[in-house]
Amino acid sequence: MTREWLCGSKTPVVWGVRRQQDQSSRSGSLAKNVVTCDCAKVAIELDGAPFISTECHCNSCREAAARLEQLPLARPMLERNAGTQFVLYRKDRIQILRGRDLLEAFRLGPKAPTRRVISRCCNSPIFLEFQSGHWLSLYSSLWPAETRPTPQLRTMTRDRRDQLALDESVPAGTLQTWRFYAKLLAAWIAMGFKSPRICIGEEAEREKTTRK
Ligand SMILES: [Zn+2]
Ligand SMILES: [Zn+2]
Repeated sequence: MTREWLCGSKTPVVWGVRRQQDQSSRSGSLAKNVVTCDCAKVAIELDGAPFISTECHCNSCREAAARLEQLPLARPMLERNAGTQFVLYRKDRIQILRGRDLLEAFRLGPKAPTRRVISRCCNSPIFLEFQSGHWLSLYSSLWPAETRPTPQLRTMTRDRRDQLALDESVPAGTLQTWRFYAKLLAAWIAMGFKSPRICIGEEAEREKTTRK
C-alpha cells in the first residue's frame, strides 16, 4: 500500500505495513471522516478520532492569523478569545484526497520551522505542521460547527496579553501542557517513531501574506 502524499521512497512501504497491523488491532478503524476547504476543492480524509484537540494561545499563532487574515481568509483562524483551535491527527491517519496542488505554505520568517498551510482556491486555513513533526494540527474550522471537536486543553496561555478573559470550560496550565506532550509522545510511539513528510503543491513558502 503506497500513500501518494508521502515524500521519499522508503516511508510509504514501511508505513503500509504499519497501518495494516494497526487496523487489525484497532476497533473503530472504519470511522473515516472527510473535511474540506470552504469551496470543497481540497478534501482530506481522516481515519478514526484525533488523538487530541487543543486551543493554542502562543504568539506565533496570533501573529500568523493577523497576517494571513489580510488575504482575506475564508474562515477565521482565531476564536473570540484570540486562541487558535486545532484538531491533531497522526500523519498516518491523514490522506489528502484531492486539491494537494492547491495547498500553499506560509512561514513567519525565512527560517521558521513551522509552516501553516492554506488553500489557494479559497484561502481556507488547512493545517499547521512543525518541522519533522509526526502529526498535523488541522484547523478546527475545517469541521462544520455541529461536528467540530471541542478543545480538550489550552496550550501556551502564558503568551496571552490583554485579550478577552478565558472561560473555565477548557483546562490550561502546566499539568495540561504535560498532558499535551504525553499525548504527542504516545502518538509517536504508536507510529514507531516515524515522521512522514507531507507533500503539498506550493513549496514556494513565503514570509509575506500577499500573493503577487
Ligand atoms: Zn477551496
Ligand atoms: Zn500556537
